[in-house]
Amino acid sequence: MELVHTISEIRSNINFQKQKGQTIGFVPTMGALHEGHLSLVRRAKSECDIVVTSIYVNPAQFNDPNDLKKYPRTLESDLELLKKEQCELVFTPTETEISGSEKPDVSQYDFGQLESVMEGKFRQGHFKGVAYIVHSLFDIITPDKAYFGEKDFQQLTIIQELVKIYNLPVEIVPCSTIRESDGLAMSSRNINLSEEERKTALLLSSSLYQSKELANSLSPLKVKDQIIKELQSNDHLQLEYFDIIDAKKLQPINEWNESNQVRACIAAYVGNIRLIDNMKIIP
Ligand code: AMP
Repeated sequence: MELVHTISEIRSNINFQKQKGQTIGFVPTMGALHEGHLSLVRRAKSECDIVVTSIYVNPAQFNDPNDLKKYPRTLESDLELLKKEQCELVFTPTETEISGSEKPDVSQYDFGQLESVMEGKFRQGHFKGVAYIVHSLFDIITPDKAYFGEKDFQQLTIIQELVKIYNLPVEIVPCSTIRESDGLAMSSRNINLSEEERKTALLLSSSLYQSKELANSLSPLKVKDQIIKELQSNDHLQLEYFDIIDAKKLQPINEWNESNQVRACIAAYVGNIRLIDNMKIIP
């Protein structure tokens, strides 16, 4: 496994592989790696000749400086894990390497309605920052395929839109959410949870499972009402949103027959840690 910090080095490395006819699979991450990330690496390994994983905590996608500061950074163990997976290349650029000394202008990225809801609504400018870094990394790595988790469902949809808008020559491969045995979606942020908070955090996935059950007998609006009421009655959790949406347009639905692809999505603070999760309801 080779560790590369500069754009020129990764470019020449990848060019060399491409000249040999090797295909490139790319897994962008912010590090603090867990089984969720590794599932993406394994999928990429099974479909591509060379796997490139990037580790970069992207300041442009954090609207809260405190959140950026608190974000876990565990480079040494990340590299150990990637080595075990036989990842060929790891790209860990500095902020200056990516953006120069100026704050990047992310205003060209506009995803309209897709970014006006859920994460986009509660984290202003978040997806413009995500699009900026993913577009930059695609330009540097020029992957054949790039792997994204459904754990960040709205992000996955926006990246698919980015590829469409800019006509980028890369295939986006969606990967299922990996969960702990009790249902909690794996997240880099979980390592900051205390034992008590870890128990409360389970409410996110359990609400999603419950909404799937309730969907058999109640309308989307009623399911949403019931879940929100239950979550709001818990003092240990501050709900930001619980939405039942059309999985393509990401807009809330009122009736089940409005869409044949439906997801429930949730974001909440447990203590001062912000967690998100989502689950397929239909089909
Ligand atoms: P992050 O490091 O949080 O930016 O995530 C990097 C990639 O890993 C994104 O495509 C995420 O959607 C994906 N990912 C994060 N957690 C999980 C999980 N529990 N299961 C599957 N993919 C995940």
